[in-house]
Amino acid sequence: MLLRAHRASRIVVIGGALVAAGCATEPTASTARATAAPVLDVDVTLLPDAADAFGGVSLRYCPAAGASMPRRLVPENRRALPFAVSVNDDLGRPLPLDDDGVFTRELRGCAHLIVDVARMADALDDKDLAQRVGDDVIATPELWLWRPEPFADDARLRVKVERAGFDAAVPWVDVDDGRYLVDARAFRLKSDAAFGRFAVEHIDAGGARLSLARLDDGRAPPALGAWLAASAHAVASVHGAYPEPRLNVLVVPTHVARPIVVGFYSRGGGPTALFYVGDGADSLDADDLEATGRWALTHELAHALLPPVKSEDAWLNEGIATWYQDLLARRAGMLPDDAAYWAELVRGLRTGRVRSDEDRLTVAEASRRMHATGAYQHTYWAGVALALLTEVEARRHGASLDDLVRALRRRFPDDDEARDARSLLAAVDAGKGAVAARALERAFQANKDAPWPDVERLLAELGVVVDAMGAVALDDHAPLAAVRRAITLPAERAPAPLAAR
Ligand SMILES: [Zn+2]
Repeated sequence: MLLRAHRASRIVVIGGALVAAGCATEPTASTARATAAPVLDVDVTLLPDAADAFGGVSLRYCPAAGASMPRRLVPENRRALPFAVSVNDDLGRPLPLDDDGVFTRELRGCAHLIVDVARMADALDDKDLAQRVGDDVIATPELWLWRPEPFADDARLRVKVERAGFDAAVPWVDVDDGRYLVDARAFRLKSDAAFGRFAVEHIDAGGARLSLARLDDGRAPPALGAWLAASAHAVASVHGAYPEPRLNVLVVPTHVARPIVVGFYSRGGGPTALFYVGDGADSLDADDLEATGRWALTHELAHALLPPVKSEDAWLNEGIATWYQDLLARRAGMLPDDAAYWAELVRGLRTGRVRSDEDRLTVAEASRRMHATGAYQHTYWAGVALALLTEVEARRHGASLDDLVRALRRRFPDDDEARDARSLLAAVDAGKGAVAARALERAFQANKDAPWPDVERLLAELGVVVDAMGAVALDDHAPLAAVRRAITLPAERAPAPLAAR
């Protein structure tokens, strides 16, 4: 349960704008020169708008004992600057704002910032950054949690969120004395937070705690919690536990006829999965992963299997997440039999190939320019084709993609920064993981300058037989039928959990 205790606020709403009504805080003595790592305590209070819905945040930045104010406070995304309602010192005097943020070096005491988050969501009109969801608001901390500039690697924000009658879902995981620890790494990767009034359901699955926040009117498929738990369990089978101890799940209702419409996964400061959900239809079979869109739950949750990858190498992280979305569903029994799994794979590969015919990009180009050109299906399924080539090659040598994924997470346990595919794979240089890493490097090198990795012969060798109508049958006498059966076999014994890494 989230706190709903209402605390008296010094903030009043005048004419629809958020205004600080003076501040009674005494300046703190900060004459001592800073010696310890710079630490700023940040008290965030959620504020109402004129209609008593969530409107914005008040942030009070005070140096921790022994620390001093940073040179400046800035929003990571400078587009947030016009939505600073006020920036004052302890006596309510305005601090000078420029094109980057506010100067705070000479400040004695604390800095007080008010950000109109809801108006920002309306004005920026960019759902990647912020959006209104009914009376609730999703907004990346890049916009509203101003940070020190420069933000040294050893510096910390100790953030406390006073909900003041609202609910909040923030991504941060590490807590010190009731405050979230936020460092520079949290701003290197996209992240999401949500504010407003919403119910939060906690689900423990696969060794992780999922905090499910149903935004707006709270509409969601009735089985969403159970579906998420099933997906988290399925993903947990690779590492022995879900790769993250905690995951925020934001649920945005729509009126699309499919229960799960689309999902996103962000990880700056801590992981958040965001799903748009729809009304569905009574006739839907809950076990039909495609018709319900449930495959997207496993896909987004499977992103945690790998460390962050640079966006130009989307073939790797999207390819691996897409490879696992159906494979883990099959291994967990969410797809009824192997033929159903291979039929999904063949259908996806066909889609990717058709898209590659249309966009006329090579695999490397599609991956590099995926967002600019919309080459999503081309990139995702080319990545799956590379994964299939790799998996078969690795299995012939006693290894598998599972070994590579496990090795990569052992080598890069933290979501600190995005790395390119080349350095990620090169870092796996021993054991079974290296067998699969070399196979994947070879598969990529051999196919990156082609429009599409050809896997038709390989599928035939695996005994995946596609008839003229596109129906899939499995041939157990095919030369690689045993490899095919091994790929979908559930992990018999869970490997060592990540916690021991
Ligand atoms: Zn994805």
